[in-house]
Amino acid sequence: MKIGVVGFGAASIGFISEILDEDHEIHVLERSKDIFSSSISGIRSDGKIFVSETMGGDMEIPLAIQNEVVDFYLEKLNPDDRREVKRGVSFDRRSRFFDLFYSKGFEPVNSTFWHIGTDKLSSVLTKIFEEFSTRNNLKFHFGSRVDDIDIEDEKIILRGEGFEAVFDYVVVAVGRSGHSLIKKVTDRYPEIVASSNTVDIGVRFEIPDHVVEEINEEMYEFKVRLKTKTGYTVRTFCNNPSGKVVLENYDDFVTVNGHSNSGGSSENTNFAILCTTRFTEPFRDPIGYGSYISRLSNILAGGRKVILQTYEDFIQTKRTKRLGRVKPTLPEGDYILGDINLVLPRRISVSITEFVEKLSEVIPGISYPDNLMYAVEVKFYSNKINNSRYKNLKFIGDCSGHTRSITYATGHGRLTGYSLK
Ligand SMILES: Cc1cc2nc3c(=O)[nH]c(=O)nc-3n(C[C@H](O)[C@H](O)[C@H](O)COP(=O)(O)OP(=O)(O)OC[C@H]3O[C@@H](n4cnc5c(N)ncnc54)[C@H](O)[C@@H]3O)c2cc1C
Repeated sequence: MKIGVVGFGAASIGFISEILDEDHEIHVLERSKDIFSSSISGIRSDGKIFVSETMGGDMEIPLAIQNEVVDFYLEKLNPDDRREVKRGVSFDRRSRFFDLFYSKGFEPVNSTFWHIGTDKLSSVLTKIFEEFSTRNNLKFHFGSRVDDIDIEDEKIILRGEGFEAVFDYVVVAVGRSGHSLIKKVTDRYPEIVASSNTVDIGVRFEIPDHVVEEINEEMYEFKVRLKTKTGYTVRTFCNNPSGKVVLENYDDFVTVNGHSNSGGSSENTNFAILCTTRFTEPFRDPIGYGSYISRLSNILAGGRKVILQTYEDFIQTKRTKRLGRVKPTLPEGDYILGDINLVLPRRISVSITEFVEKLSEVIPGISYPDNLMYAVEVKFYSNKINNSRYKNLKFIGDCSGHTRSITYATGHGRLTGYSLK
C-alpha cells in the first residue's frame, strides 16, 4: 500500500515503527523544515515519559505497550545519558504527600515517569530519524504542510502548497498544532466527529524551587486534581523543577508552556494549573473557544506575547505593575505585565483561585503574593474522532482527541500500525 503519514511527532513515530518492516511505501509529510524545527511537542521539549492508567489519554493503551514505548525512547539515548535519566513515581500510595493531598479533597494521580530533558531530546529524535531514514520504503517530505484532505472513492488525497498526493491509506498525526487542518476536515466530514466538548484552560504558575523542594525531590512531578465549588475540575500538569516557562507558538496566537533540561536550568519550578471546561449542545467548538481566549490574551499583551501577573494582583483583580522576589524565566520580550482577569472567564479564574488556596494548605508557599502566573495555557483536546468511519483514513495521537502525552500518542500510533499487519 502507498501510505501517507501527516506530521512527524510521537504518534507517527509509533505508527511508523510498527509498519516499517511491512511491504508498504511510506511517505511522511511534515510541515517543518527538518526534524527539530517544530517547536510544539513534548518530544522536542521536556520529554517526560509517563506510564499511567489514568493519565495521558482517554483510550486504553495496555501497560505492556506503554512500557515498550518508554524502552523504545530510552534505548535511543547513549548509555551515559540513559543512566542519568531521572525516574520517579507520582503519588505512590505510601508517600506521605498522598494522605496530605487526599485529606484536603485532592485526587492524587499515580504515574511512573522518566525525564529525558529538552537538551537530550534532540539526540533521541536524531537517532529515530536516522534509523527510519535508512529504510528504502520510507521517504520524508519536510516543508510539506498539508492544508486539505479529500476522501475520494477508495483513495485519500492530501493537498498543500504546491503539491497534491494520492494515497491508499493515510494517518493524520498533526498533534495539537495541526488544529486548523483538523477543523477543516471535520467541518467537511462532520460524520467523523464522535464528540467535541472539552478544552482545558488555565495558567502557568511559577514559584521558587525552595517552595516545592520537598515534593519535587520525592516525586519530581506532582499531579493532583480537585473538583472545585464551581463544578469545574482543576488539575496540575507538567511540573518542571528548575525549569523554564516558554511560549507555545500556534499559527494565529501564542500560549504559554514549560519545560526543563535534564540538569535543570533555573531556580524556579513551573507547572500548569488547568481548568477542564466541558460544553453541551448546541456548542461544538471548544477549539474555537480556547483559541479566542488565547488570542484575547495576545491582543491585550500587544502582539505575540502572554500576560504575566503576580498571584496577589490576580486575587485583587488589578494589573501587575512591578514584580516581587520571583524572577520570570520567560524572556522579557515574550510577556507584558497585566491582569489575567481581563482574559479568563470568571468561572475559570474563581476555580483556579480555589485550587491555589487549597494547594497552599498542603504547600504553604504556593500562595505567596509574588508568585507568578502566566496566561493563558490551553490544552486543546481536539474533537474526538471516530476512527471507524473510514477504513483508510485514521487520526492518531493528540489530533484524534484521544491522547495527550508522548506515551499515549506513541502507543496509539503503534496500535494503529499493528491493525494494518
Ligand atoms: C511544550 C510541550 C511540552 C510537552 N511535554 C510533554 C512531556 O514532557 N511529556 C508528555 O508525555 N507530553 C508532553 N507534551 C504533550 C506531547 O508532546 C503530546 O501529547 C505528543 O507529542 C502528541 O504527539 P502527536 O504525534 O499527536 O503530536 P506532535 O508530537 O505534536 O506531532 C505533530 C507533528 O505534526 C506536524 N504538523 C502539524 N500540522 C501539520 C500539517 N498541517 N501538515 C504537516 N505536518 C503538520 C507538527 O509540526 C509536528 O511535528 C508536551 C507538549 C508541549 C507542547
